Amino acid sequence: MSAKHLASCIFCKIIKGDIPSYKLLETDLSFSFLDIGPLSKGHALVIPKYHAQKMHELPDEYLADAMPIAKKIALAQGAENYNVLQNNGRLAHQEVDHVHFHIIPKPDAERGLV
Ligand code: 5GP
Ligand code: ZN
Repeated sequence: MSAKHLASCIFCKIIKGDIPSYKLLETDLSFSFLDIGPLSKGHALVIPKYHAQKMHELPDEYLADAMPIAKKIALAQGAENYNVLQNNGRLAHQEVDHVHFHIIPKPDAERGLV
């Protein structure tokens, strides 16, 4: 891994392969995988390979690398409707303290995304 990580962090462990995940895409700076508790079929996460709890603590190059991956995942899923969410802090519903972007396709019976 190219940058700072935290040994006790589950997402840092996923990046290192110490915890298994269903990997989607990986670059030098980012890693993406399916969410273990999907809100809909295809619910994915994009995380930087840099341990920061909140988005404002993340170096710009990691932020810039993550967004095109979110775009690729959304395109690959073929969902016409989807949410990209990013929570910072407990009051904002952050449960895992490593920056992550959710890509959540909205169910669409006609396209089989249910
Ligand atoms: P948050 O509420 O922090 O924005 O979302 C954390 C997300 O991480 C949740 O949707 C949860 O299902 C997911 N998650 C937590 N632990 C794991 C894990 O070990 N593997 C995977 N693939 N997802 C996880
Ligand atoms: Zn981490």
